[in-house]
Amino acid sequence: MTSESSTAERLARLSTDPVPRRAPSSSFVLAPGYGLGGIVDAILGAVDPSPPPDREDAGDAYWMRRALLAAMAAEGRASPNPTVGAVIVKDGVLIATGATEAYGQRHAERCAIDNVADRALLRGATIYTTLEPCAHWGKQPPCADLVASCGFARCVAGLRDPNPRVHGIGLDRVRAVGTEVRSGVLRNEILAWHLPYLFPYLLPPAGGRPLVSALAVAGDGAEPLLGRADGWEARDAGRRYRSWLRRKCDLVVTEPSLASVDPVAFARGPWRGVVWWDLGDRLAGMGVAEARELGVRGRELGAPVTLVCTPDRENSAQLDACLRAGIGHLAPPADADPASWLAAAGRNGALAAVTGAPPAWVLVDGHPRLAAALAAGLAVDAVHALHPADAPPTSGGAAPARPAQPSTDLSPVARVAASGALISEYYLEPLSSALDGTAW
Ligand SMILES: [Zn+2]
Repeated sequence: MTSESSTAERLARLSTDPVPRRAPSSSFVLAPGYGLGGIVDAILGAVDPSPPPDREDAGDAYWMRRALLAAMAAEGRASPNPTVGAVIVKDGVLIATGATEAYGQRHAERCAIDNVADRALLRGATIYTTLEPCAHWGKQPPCADLVASCGFARCVAGLRDPNPRVHGIGLDRVRAVGTEVRSGVLRNEILAWHLPYLFPYLLPPAGGRPLVSALAVAGDGAEPLLGRADGWEARDAGRRYRSWLRRKCDLVVTEPSLASVDPVAFARGPWRGVVWWDLGDRLAGMGVAEARELGVRGRELGAPVTLVCTPDRENSAQLDACLRAGIGHLAPPADADPASWLAAAGRNGALAAVTGAPPAWVLVDGHPRLAAALAAGLAVDAVHALHPADAPPTSGGAAPARPAQPSTDLSPVARVAASGALISEYYLEPLSSALDGTAW
């Protein structure tokens, strides 16, 4: 990227140049039905038909799955803490569940333990937690000390916490009192759920950039068309999974258009912010009345909305109309490429100002042009791809769809057939190699 060329020129080149190839896919895979959003069947409303196993120690994966379901059901927004789930099992019977509360409040293990009125019941029981119990004082006392004090027979964790203040220390502290300790149950699947929290430990060179995932639609070939969200709402599975992702991520990034403001899909759920990123001069092409309507509807979403655009003569009236409606505004430098700007905005607090806290997970919802620009800058980490039963057209239409990269570079992590659609998730380089190298 040269500084002489304008953003518009570079974006124009993106639509004609091949997206840079990345290294072959990693060996990091998930069991079918698991993804970044957790257990996809549960999101789609499918009932888990499997009964609890007879023997507790034979069913660690079963109970860890239940712990993950507890995390998924959490109402509180724990971010930037991980949303941990915990269950307590005695004699093969579930006696308590818990999940991390809103940031600064109780952690999952404490919630589950507090849900057992008679602490004597905990003696000889097993506690399952998706992440190693914390060992340090933050806004809450250490969970490891509490777990160690309860007389549990076993403590089973999905994975160890890479935070150096916890890593191995939490489980050692529990082991020290004679509780049997196991970690690594459903490891990859739990790792996927906690990925927004784990991302800075996986890719420190990302320089403060949050985890970025993007919607895509599979074409008639195997290549997902990055940034395409058309077709998602028409399919029951697509609509539900998209809505779930919007509620679980910290920041939704989409195009500034009336079509992107769906009050039914967006108003639900406690996610924390929306960015309208104007790359295609969409704002300048709008009438002022339409911009005013966009601003009003954005304000009504119930979440802070910020417009990212470079002010100029063509869009000043429309920008004013949005700002008067209470929409925030960030102006990237005219020559900044989106990937670099996103990383800088993560570092300098611009994104935190939108959401109220540094976002851990950004979802690019639609917006093919932005998704392509971010992918070219290695700033798309995961792709949620919808494979409609009858494939959508791969050319034509308004969206300048671009493949993420050749399909041989993609590693499928979730394949769920439901309602005539198949949803896949992929981790892209450099994240997929980083996942290969973890020993948590
Ligand atoms: Zn804790």
